[in-house]
Amino acid sequence: MRITVLGKSPAWQDAGGACSGYLVETDGMCVLLDCGCGVFGKLRSHREYWEIDAVVISHLHADHILDLVPYASALTYAPREQPPAVGGHDRPGGPARPRLIAPSGAADALSHVCGGAGMPEEHVERAFALTEYAPEDAFELGPLRVCFRSVPHFLPTHAVELREGDVRFTFSADSSPSDELCDFARDTSLLLIEATLPSPEREGPRGHLTPAEAGEHGRRAGAGRLVLTHFSDELDAEWMRREAEATFGGPVEVAHEAAVYEL
Ligand SMILES: [Zn+2]
Ligand SMILES: [Zn+2]
Repeated sequence: MRITVLGKSPAWQDAGGACSGYLVETDGMCVLLDCGCGVFGKLRSHREYWEIDAVVISHLHADHILDLVPYASALTYAPREQPPAVGGHDRPGGPARPRLIAPSGAADALSHVCGGAGMPEEHVERAFALTEYAPEDAFELGPLRVCFRSVPHFLPTHAVELREGDVRFTFSADSSPSDELCDFARDTSLLLIEATLPSPEREGPRGHLTPAEAGEHGRRAGAGRLVLTHFSDELDAEWMRREAEATFGGPVEVAHEAAVYEL
């Protein structure tokens, strides 16, 4: 399994960067995990967008879904798709129609986004084959098995595991401190974990982790490798690494754009 970071920014992009997006490739299967702002352009420098078999979405926050809109435009209007398919996109040899595996409520949310921005409400649903999932669902994508666990955040959010045989890649999504996340990631090969905050939220409910908390979660899970993500370039990545290594008890990697992790 090969994981490429397309975007590791939090809810606002780094200079020249992108929000949440990770390319997961195995023999014969290519999955895009999250499709936040800026991810579509980054994807294009690694793979052809029509080669993606499935897009898996962790939760419906803007920084994890908004580039589904230009992605759908490419699948619908790009030169290779002209003239547009008549009567849908499933004709043999016709335009690619990747699967879109997204949380319950995705169709409604995406139709509001598109409809409110001058696009047909069904713009994304026409371009992708959408399946809404519940946390207990699992999907077989070629050699990959995809499953989920609810984690505490500001709206329904799911940590995601992609497994191929004994190799497991676990993505925290966005999460406040969570026993469920540690349990879900138990003994995983690689835990890609959010480390959004330099210090815990000053007020209101928790929604994210600090680097020290991310390291502690990695230690409690017994993760083989720990990679921090979903943080701004306004933070000092070396400081983050030291904070996380102190609680993880071993080397920690810090995600950067185009980083590749081979499992
Ligand atoms: Zn986010
Ligand atoms: Zn979020």
